[in-house]
Amino acid sequence: MRDFDGLLVQANLIGGAWCDADTGQTVSVTNPATHDVLGTVPNCGAAETERAIDAAAQAFDDWSRSDLSVRVGLLHKLHDALMDQQEPLAQLLTAEQGKPLAEARGEIAIGAAYIRWFAEEVRRAKGEIVPAPTADRRLMVTRHPVGVVAAITPWNFPSSMLARKLGPALAAGCTVVAKPATATPYSGLVWGKLCQDVGFPDGVVNILTGSARDIGGAIMESPRVRKVTFTGSTDVGKVLIRQSADTVKKVSMELGGNAPFIVFDDADLDAAIEGAMIAKYRNMGQTCVCTNRFYVQAGIHDAFVAKLTAATEALVVGDGSADGVQQGPMIDAGGVEKVEEMIADATAKGGTIVTGGKRHALGGTFFEPTVMTGATADMQVARDEIFGPLSAVFKFDTEDEAIAAANATEFGLAAYAYTTSLGRTFRLNERLEYGLIGINSGLITTVEAPFGGLKESGMGKEGGSQGLEDYLSVKYMCVAGLDR
Ligand code: NAP
Repeated sequence: MRDFDGLLVQANLIGGAWCDADTGQTVSVTNPATHDVLGTVPNCGAAETERAIDAAAQAFDDWSRSDLSVRVGLLHKLHDALMDQQEPLAQLLTAEQGKPLAEARGEIAIGAAYIRWFAEEVRRAKGEIVPAPTADRRLMVTRHPVGVVAAITPWNFPSSMLARKLGPALAAGCTVVAKPATATPYSGLVWGKLCQDVGFPDGVVNILTGSARDIGGAIMESPRVRKVTFTGSTDVGKVLIRQSADTVKKVSMELGGNAPFIVFDDADLDAAIEGAMIAKYRNMGQTCVCTNRFYVQAGIHDAFVAKLTAATEALVVGDGSADGVQQGPMIDAGGVEKVEEMIADATAKGGTIVTGGKRHALGGTFFEPTVMTGATADMQVARDEIFGPLSAVFKFDTEDEAIAAANATEFGLAAYAYTTSLGRTFRLNERLEYGLIGINSGLITTVEAPFGGLKESGMGKEGGSQGLEDYLSVKYMCVAGLDR
C-alpha cells in the first residue's frame, strides 16, 4: 500500500456522484519515471460533460447566493485539508508527473496558499456607490459571480494550476466543471475528493477526464458555461478563444512562454547562477516561466557559462521520489524528441554543446541537463518554447540589443534580468514586453501578485487581487425616484 493510495481517485465527479464513462472506457495513467501503470481514469466525452454542466448550473443558484462566511469557511477547510495531506498528495503528484518530491511538496503548498488567498481576498471584493448626476438617484456598482466556470489545466502543474482557478471561482460563488490533463489526472481528481470531504455542496465542483476534444467541445458549445479558464499551450488556447465567440464566454488564458534571462556585466554572478538554475531546471525545464533564452553580456559571458555548466553537471537525475533527486524524467517521448530536434537544429547552425546534449543513461524519458553556447536568433531555441532541460546561451553587448532580442517573440509571459543598476531596473520594467518580470530573482510566483502573460502568452491574471476579478461580473444599478 502506497501512502497516496487513499487519494488515487479513479472515477469522475458529476453532481456529487463518482462515476465511470458511459461507454465504460478508461485511459491508463503511467508513472513517467518507472513506466508502471498507476491506474486508470474514465474516458468521458460530450454526454458526461453535458451532465456535469447541468449539475454545475443547478448548484449555481444556491452556491452563488450562499453566505460569504460559508464559502470562506469551506475554503479555509480546503486549505487545511491540503496541508494536512501535503506529503501523500506530493507523492501522488510525483508519481504521475515525475517532478522531484521537494518540488511536488512546494506545489501542494502553493496550491493551498492560493485557496487561502482567495478566501481572504473575496472579503474585499467591494462594489462602489457612484455620485449621481441628480439628487433623486443613487448609482451602485456591484460584483456578482459570472456563473458556471470551465477550468482546463495542463500536466506540468496538475495541482496548483487547478488551485488558481478553483480558489477564485469558488470564492466568488461560481460553480466549476474541471478537466485536468490526461497525463496527470489524479492530482486534479483528488481536488474533488477533498472538496467533498470538507463539505462543498454537490455539483459545485465537477471533474471530468477523457477526450480533450469532446469534453472541450461540449464546454465551448454550452451557453450555460459563462467562463472558460485555460492553462496550456498557445495553440490550444487560440482554438478555445475562437470557440468562445459563439456564446461570447469570458475567457482567461494562461498560455506558453519564451522567457529571456538577461545577465548584465554588473550582475552578482553567484546570485545569477542561483536564479538561473531555478528558472531553467525547475520541473526539468517544463514550466511556462522557465528560461528559454539566456542573454549574457560579453564581459561576464565566459564566467557565467563556466559556473552554469558546473552547476548543471552537479544536478542529480533520477526518479523524483528518491531522496536528493533534482531532475526527474520528462513527461513523455514527444517532449524528449522536441529537445533533441532543437539541439540538432542549433548545432547545425553553429551552437556548441558544453555539457549534456543527449538522452540520459537512465533511459526512458530522462534527459541530460544541457548547456549550449553560441545560440543565435535563427535557431529554433530562440523562437519556440523548449520545455526541457536545455540552457541556450546567447551573447550580447549592449542593453538596447538585449532588450530588442528579449522582445523579439510573440510570447510575453516571464522575463528575468540580473543587474545591480537601479536605473536599468526601471528601464527594463518599462521596455520588456512581459507580464512577469523578475529582477535578481529566478522565482517570482507568489499568491499575492498577478500572474499572467502579455501578447500571445495570454490574457487575464491569476493570483493577486486581479485574480478574483475574472470570476466576477460588474453590474450597475440606478435607483431613481428617490425624491418621491
Ligand atoms: P496543452 O496540450 O495545451 O493541454 C492543456 C490542457 O488542454 C489539457 O488538459 C489538454 O487535455 C487540454 N486540451 C487539449 N486540446 C484541447 C482542445 N481541443 N479542447 C479543449 N481542451 C484541450 O498543454 P500541455 O502540454 O498540457 O501544457 C504545456 C503548455 O502549458 C506549455 O505551453 C506551457 O507553457 C503552458 N503553461 C502555461 C502556464 C501559464 O500560466 N501561462 C502554466 C503552465 C503551463 P489532454 O491532456 O487530454 O490533451
